[in-house]
Amino acid sequence: MAHRVTMIPGDGIGPEIMDAARRVWEATGVAFDWDIQQAGSEQMDRTGTPLPDSVLDSIRRNGVAIKGPITTPIGTGFRSVNVALRKELDLYACLRPCRLYPGARSRYEHIDLVIVRENTEDLYAGVEFDAGTPEAEKIAGMGAGRIRPGSAISIKPISAEGTARIARFAFEYARHYGRRRVSAIAKANIMKFTDGLFFRTCSEVAKEYPDIAYNEVLVDAACMQLVQHPDMFDVMVLPNLYGDILSDLCAGLIGGLGVAPGANIGDACALFEPTHGSAPRYKGLNKANPTALILSGMLMLRHLGETDAADRLERAVAAVIADGGRVTYDMKHDREDPTAVGTQEMADAIIEAMQR
Ligand code: NAD
Repeated sequence: MAHRVTMIPGDGIGPEIMDAARRVWEATGVAFDWDIQQAGSEQMDRTGTPLPDSVLDSIRRNGVAIKGPITTPIGTGFRSVNVALRKELDLYACLRPCRLYPGARSRYEHIDLVIVRENTEDLYAGVEFDAGTPEAEKIAGMGAGRIRPGSAISIKPISAEGTARIARFAFEYARHYGRRRVSAIAKANIMKFTDGLFFRTCSEVAKEYPDIAYNEVLVDAACMQLVQHPDMFDVMVLPNLYGDILSDLCAGLIGGLGVAPGANIGDACALFEPTHGSAPRYKGLNKANPTALILSGMLMLRHLGETDAADRLERAVAAVIADGGRVTYDMKHDREDPTAVGTQEMADAIIEAMQR
């Protein structure tokens, strides 16, 4: 029976990479029944909300969604649709495997890391008070002179409950996929209560998994160690903001945002999407790399139990990257390389590799 999946093309480069990726997923032979939904600024203009209830209802109904990137206005305008989806559907675990496929443009020879980012708390809670508001002044007053009057203020909530479930997700993932270590990453020397609670809770959960090594690393040290000795890490579990930043860092280790896939997983639904954003500069140019979205679909195939199709798809992507001929500009050693192919042509190459 066909898998009914919500498809949200997104905006910017979203629709064109979704067209390319969809052809690749369908070429695996797995049957899909796409439930296509729109969200983002065009929906805002049309319906007054960038995230209509019909989109959330579709994902709740189908349990699985695949999504292109959606632009978030900076500083003003509506809040991030991406963050709202994660919160509304309680997609608390953001999973970002970072694997280096030989041939990808990287300074390293071997990278196989997994980021598990908490998706619903931390500075992403969206509890912010603008400079000069009574709330900001009231909180500043509670700061006993440590907050300058006139400051804008963001609240950073981290709970034991939210941390325990993301830690458990990381350890369960590690156990399921035969990983050796989980590292909790935060800044508990400075944020003793919030990040301190994160470390304490992770170490409690770690006791339930004596078969998996556990350690704690400060986020600044982790950034340096990831660049110098990425093999020191395996699965990393992080609060929301550090997880966001380290996701891009790790994407940089494996060849860039064009190849970094992701998933947002909750108890009731899962939404798969690349790490990268809508790259508006490349919109409509048939230039963007479809690989990150295609590999997000590979994670979706695994989630749907289509392991064989997922393996074939991953091997085909790896073969095209290893060959290096029919890849987009960002995968060429020289970004001006005239032999770079377009979004659709790279998808064609992956489909051909799968059929060989
Ligand atoms: P971005 O990831 O869109 O782009 C940064 C740069 O990375 C691009 O200029 C391009 O050089 C490169 N890049 C990204 N994707 C690529 C691809 N598929 N192929 C080749 N190169 C690629 O980050 P940004 O410019 O900070 O964000 C643009 C918009 O996307 C913002 O509105 C942001 O809020 C939004 N965003 C959305 C999501 C999401 O939908 N989950 C995630 C991140 C950012």
